[in-house]
Amino acid sequence: MNFTETDEQRALRAAVAELGSRYGYAYFTKQARTGGKLTQLWQDAGKLGFLGVNLPEQFGGGGAGMYELAIVLEELAAAGCGLLMMVVSPAICGTIIARFGTDEQKKHWLPKLANGSAIMAFGITEPDAGSNSHKLTTVATRDGDTWVLNGRKIYISGVDEADAVLIVGRTADAKTGKLRPVLFAVPTDAPGFTFTPLEMDVMMPEQQFLLFLDDVRLPADALIGEQNAALMQLFAGLNPERIMASASAVGTARFALDRAVAYARERTVWSAPIGAHQGLAHPLAQVKIELELAKLMMQKAATLYDSGDDMAAGEAANMAKYAAAEASVRTVDQAIQTLGGSGLTAEYGLAGLLANVRTTRIAPVSREMILNFIAQHSLGLPKSY
Ligand SMILES: Cc1cc2nc3c(=O)[nH]c(=O)nc-3n(C[C@H](O)[C@H](O)[C@H](O)COP(=O)(O)OP(=O)(O)OC[C@H]3O[C@@H](n4cnc5c(N)ncnc54)[C@H](O)[C@@H]3O)c2cc1C
Repeated sequence: MNFTETDEQRALRAAVAELGSRYGYAYFTKQARTGGKLTQLWQDAGKLGFLGVNLPEQFGGGGAGMYELAIVLEELAAAGCGLLMMVVSPAICGTIIARFGTDEQKKHWLPKLANGSAIMAFGITEPDAGSNSHKLTTVATRDGDTWVLNGRKIYISGVDEADAVLIVGRTADAKTGKLRPVLFAVPTDAPGFTFTPLEMDVMMPEQQFLLFLDDVRLPADALIGEQNAALMQLFAGLNPERIMASASAVGTARFALDRAVAYARERTVWSAPIGAHQGLAHPLAQVKIELELAKLMMQKAATLYDSGDDMAAGEAANMAKYAAAEASVRTVDQAIQTLGGSGLTAEYGLAGLLANVRTTRIAPVSREMILNFIAQHSLGLPKSY
């Protein structure tokens, strides 16, 4: 076990932090408040090779792992300008295509996902299924050489910026009639595919959408991976999703904590700076510890994932996402408290961040479903639902 990052990892951290400092939180909030996007930053990050560090070199990626992709997102978020679509495009979709796609699919998608010229969204959540993915009702039916998809999805991020959505649907087993999960790359301009924005009360430039798939006809090669192995393929993409959600939360919380500490060192309303009062210093120290612990678990999950141990990575990735969500919510809340009234001003922008990190308690998987997973799989307790 080694707790020291390699020279390459440290250099990557520094290079990403430098890019992040050129954009920063002012850029992020301006785009979020005016309906703008983070396209310029996305493209720059793509050109520098940051978006595809985890993807195979053979297909234009950096040939590194989820550890390195998490470094990229953590450092951008720590600079105040995290890229939500990194959780989805290179991490979930890139991973699934790189591991299970056909050669043609890899050649078509991976170079573009790696250099940022294409974005893929990911659609699993449905209005009537929510946390219960066994209840998905988006169904794919084979019709000669084509597939026909029907269904609805909700809360899907970044569809307006995406070239395609990796849709989790189901097919009916010819023998048993039972529905089995299956993955499709659905182009966002496919006939029958429509999407409308949901009005969310979070400060993110990326929007969430309601998707409608009405007789969307796709060629046979739109099916990603094996029709009969989609569940395992899906799980391979969900561990990266949880690791990257952790990286986003840890980075955002680092940003808020830096702001709070800088303020607490300067602001003086009695005889000493407010940071000298233990009533503020201790909670700031406490969230610093909690953040470091969450980050350590995220790094463990990424290391296990990169070593090929999907099972062990699953437990660690869930624990990391849980810990990162809890630590980031407490950190941003304490940062707001530290700034007093300034914590709620648009100038400092911390109040808006609270809703963003709060999202990590719900998406991509809720804290309760993680607790269920740990109770059942790690502790062997019976299931109630
Ligand atoms: C900003 C944002 C972006 C998102 N982006 C995407 C995306 O790009 N793609 C995508 O597919 N989805 C996306 N989602 C959806 C997200 O993954 C879901 O919101 C999440 O999985 C929870 O589902 P739900 O909202 O339907 O809640 P529900 O399943 O209705 O749950 C409601 C509450 O009940 C609790 N609950 C449910 N079942 C149990 C149980 N058995 N035991 C204990 N408690 C339980 C939950 O934990 C939760 O607190 C996004 C959501 C948000 C907020």
